[in-house]
Amino acid sequence: EIVFIAKESDPNEPRVAGSVESVRKLASLGFEVVVEAGAGLTSRILDTEYEKAGARIGTTKDAKSADVVLKVRRPTVDEIKSYKPGALVIAIMDPYGNEEAIAAMAKAELTAFAMELMPRITRAQSMDVLSSQANLAGYQAVIDAAHEYDRALPMMMTAAGTVPAAKVFVMGAGVAGLQAIATARRLGAMVSATDVRPAAKEQVASLGAKFIAVEDEEFKAAETAGGYAKEMSKDYQVKQAALVAEHIAKQDIVITTALIPGRPAPRLVTRAMLDAMKPGSVVVDLAVERGGNVEGAEAGRVVEIGGVKVIGHLNVPGRIAASASLLYAKNLVTFMETLVSKEEKRLAVNMDDELVKATALTHGGTIVHPAFGGAKE
Ligand code: NAD
Repeated sequence: EIVFIAKESDPNEPRVAGSVESVRKLASLGFEVVVEAGAGLTSRILDTEYEKAGARIGTTKDAKSADVVLKVRRPTVDEIKSYKPGALVIAIMDPYGNEEAIAAMAKAELTAFAMELMPRITRAQSMDVLSSQANLAGYQAVIDAAHEYDRALPMMMTAAGTVPAAKVFVMGAGVAGLQAIATARRLGAMVSATDVRPAAKEQVASLGAKFIAVEDEEFKAAETAGGYAKEMSKDYQVKQAALVAEHIAKQDIVITTALIPGRPAPRLVTRAMLDAMKPGSVVVDLAVERGGNVEGAEAGRVVEIGGVKVIGHLNVPGRIAASASLLYAKNLVTFMETLVSKEEKRLAVNMDDELVKATALTHGGTIVHPAFGGAKE
């Protein structure tokens, strides 16, 4: 059986769905691995390295004979047509709001898996693309902020005088936020953070940052069973905004990472808050692709609002593509291991497996995922 690792057709996607290590692993699982020529170049992986790991270098035409297609992004309409019916396609499918594309994959009789729907359970931790990519985005957000900031982050005591430490405030202390906190701390900044989940308080403190939040009864009950944030009441949002406004005015760098699954990103930083910041301050909105946490942030741009630079880079994990691809490829291959029979060295997808059920969008010509019109159990 053939696994095809595609070259991403989106020019804004430098990541790749296979690494040297993942190719080796796929070969050991019994697959013939074909990598589309040049697929790894933007992640600094040469075709010759894939070859040495056991892959054959192919072209887009090889997609047609593949039993499994591995990608970073959801395939385009043309790509869907170039796959063979019955093939598995595994990618970050971005399914919400893209129901037409899901229907097209069903019609093409593909079995499409959305990696970002992987359940956040212990068994699936090494397949969790949201975590692997958010962690790198959190790191990169601090690097991007430091790049735009025209002062040093650490306190420096020199013979010529003392440079004060930068104050960094991280809003949303999930996977990306916690890495942003750790990275800013490593660079010597004075770091504080906020979140609406009570569990975040201890995690923030354990990284040596100060926790800032309105800790009322609503806050104490604000975590869902899945460990995600709930949308907070208007009343809470007003109280939180007041506390944050006062705090933000004293910060040099603000990094926002707040998301609520299935909802637009919450608006956390208003124009008035930006105006209260010192000129030359920097704000990074990691939620910009999901509606944005920061008023005035623009997707794909760095804009200046009242003297504050507001960074809205797209595809932040792609800005650190070589590392992001390495982790993404590992997530994919670990998931692939659950889709094969190791004894018989062939695909053996169990549609009743909980990981398959959570991630499969289409199968056998129909949409199977209940969130996208598939039959409920
Ligand atoms: P996310 O990307 O959905 O959101 C980022 C953060 O924003 C979250 O911490 C959320 O609470 C916060 N947020 C939402 N609204 C906010 C608001 N109004 N103000 C401030 N902050 C707000 O979350 P995530 O990074 O994917 O992680 C969510 C949780 O899941 C974390 O506790 C994480 O540790 C946990 N997790 C568990 C597993 C696992 O068990 N396998 C894997 C990954 C993450």
